[in-house]
Amino acid sequence: MVQHLLKGAGGLGLDVGAVQERQLRRYLDELLAWNRRVNLTAVTRPEDVERVHFLDSLTVAAAIPEPLRAGCSLIDVGTGAGFPGVPLKVILPDIDLTLVESVAKKTAFLHHLVEVLDLKGVHILTGRAETLATDPSLRERFDVAVSRAVGSLRVLAELVLPFCRLGGRAVLSKKGDISQELVEAAPALEKLGGEVIELRPVPEEVLEGQRVLVVVQKVAPSPAEYPRRPGIPAKRPL
Ligand code: SAH
Repeated sequence: MVQHLLKGAGGLGLDVGAVQERQLRRYLDELLAWNRRVNLTAVTRPEDVERVHFLDSLTVAAAIPEPLRAGCSLIDVGTGAGFPGVPLKVILPDIDLTLVESVAKKTAFLHHLVEVLDLKGVHILTGRAETLATDPSLRERFDVAVSRAVGSLRVLAELVLPFCRLGGRAVLSKKGDISQELVEAAPALEKLGGEVIELRPVPEEVLEGQRVLVVVQKVAPSPAEYPRRPGIPAKRPL
């Protein structure tokens, strides 16, 4: 089964051991089984799930510098069925992972998944990023924040950067031509204390579709007024 994935991971310089391979196989089975009852993914062919969800999630690991990668605290904002956070946790078992998702049916799946995969050090929070980011135990506490398919960069700046500690970074998964999106995000990034330090293209031979990781360094604290109330960041982007 997970052949495509193993080959792609090799291309990223990531090592997938036997335990991890088994965990990813089980993840695939559980995702497809739960997907009949809970709307978790539109992608249902196993080989597509491997590429579009698992491998795409793993590309994020390459954008986390070595010294941080092993044991960092990482938060995934709007994780859905666990992407990219859970595949990252499988491949980097020592990270301390926090998953944020507002839809309770999805976090029910995540609780089940973490149990059957026997993952340790995973915290699942059912709630809105806008609300959770005001909690002192979460605000500016994470080395790395990641997010995929949740919003435009200017919206993500407000939803994600408040969780990053000073000197930490956000790694945001994007697809296609993002030059306009980057320009539009500049004011929001500046307000939230972020600075784009790297645009890291995913090699087409690993995964097609002009994928790029936007790496944002947290260079100044996020002002207390952000994020605004739930729904406002997406409705009236900065
Ligand atoms: N990251 C996953 C899911 C993307 S769909 C993936 O790439 O497959 C976007 C998810 O983010 C949805 O599950 C939605 O419920 C969640 N979401 C969107 N805005 C959110 C917010 N403000 N706080 C928490 N979760 C949010």
